[in-house]
Amino acid sequence: MLGEAIIKGLAVTAKNFALSYVSPERLVTIQYPEERQPLPEATRQFPFLVYDGDDPHAGLRCVACQICEKECPPQCIYIVKSKDKKPDHTGKPQFYPAVFDIDLSVCMSCQICVEVCPFDAIKMDTEFELSTTDRFAGLLYHKEQLAKSNAYYHKIHPTEAAEVDARLAAERAKVAAKPRAASETKAAATAPAAPPALAPGAAVAA
Ligand code: SF4
Ligand code: SF4
Repeated sequence: MLGEAIIKGLAVTAKNFALSYVSPERLVTIQYPEERQPLPEATRQFPFLVYDGDDPHAGLRCVACQICEKECPPQCIYIVKSKDKKPDHTGKPQFYPAVFDIDLSVCMSCQICVEVCPFDAIKMDTEFELSTTDRFAGLLYHKEQLAKSNAYYHKIHPTEAAEVDARLAAERAKVAAKPRAASETKAAATAPAAPPALAPGAAVAA
């Protein structure tokens, strides 16, 4: 019947309206911004840069490899690689972004930058209250605004952040084990050869 779906929809609305007086869970609206619904863990808005520890500069995971800049479909990431180096999460000296900007007015939240980053340095934020009267400078986010702590990452995406931590810890352990394995191999190569084993009952030569 023509319009049957509309009538069914209106019936559901009317039922919820009437029952919301006796059953609060039928209230589907909340008093935003005083009240807020919890965001699902998979929520994504715009990217941010993760840093470890307390210092956004020293702990920044990004090594300015510029892969995300090249892969971003609307080309809204702008990176200038540093001239000097600082330790990365494994302690290895690495370049860092002297400049890292994202034009959020152009970003389409596709998450490709996150997928291609080999260092787990860029993740998707859940923050959505970013309205501004300045469409240009107000939405051009710099490194200082983009850098957020690993603790924040855990707060908004706990499952994903725990997986990333485990992966990075395994990488650190692998890097730490390499010099030890190399020195053990070297020590084995320079050690005097063991005398050949004698057959049972054989006489030892004088
Ligand atoms: S989410 Fe997509 S559009 Fe936005 S910065 Fe990353 S790659 Fe570019
Ligand atoms: S965020 Fe990741 S992919 Fe982008 S420059 Fe930094 S390390 Fe490279």
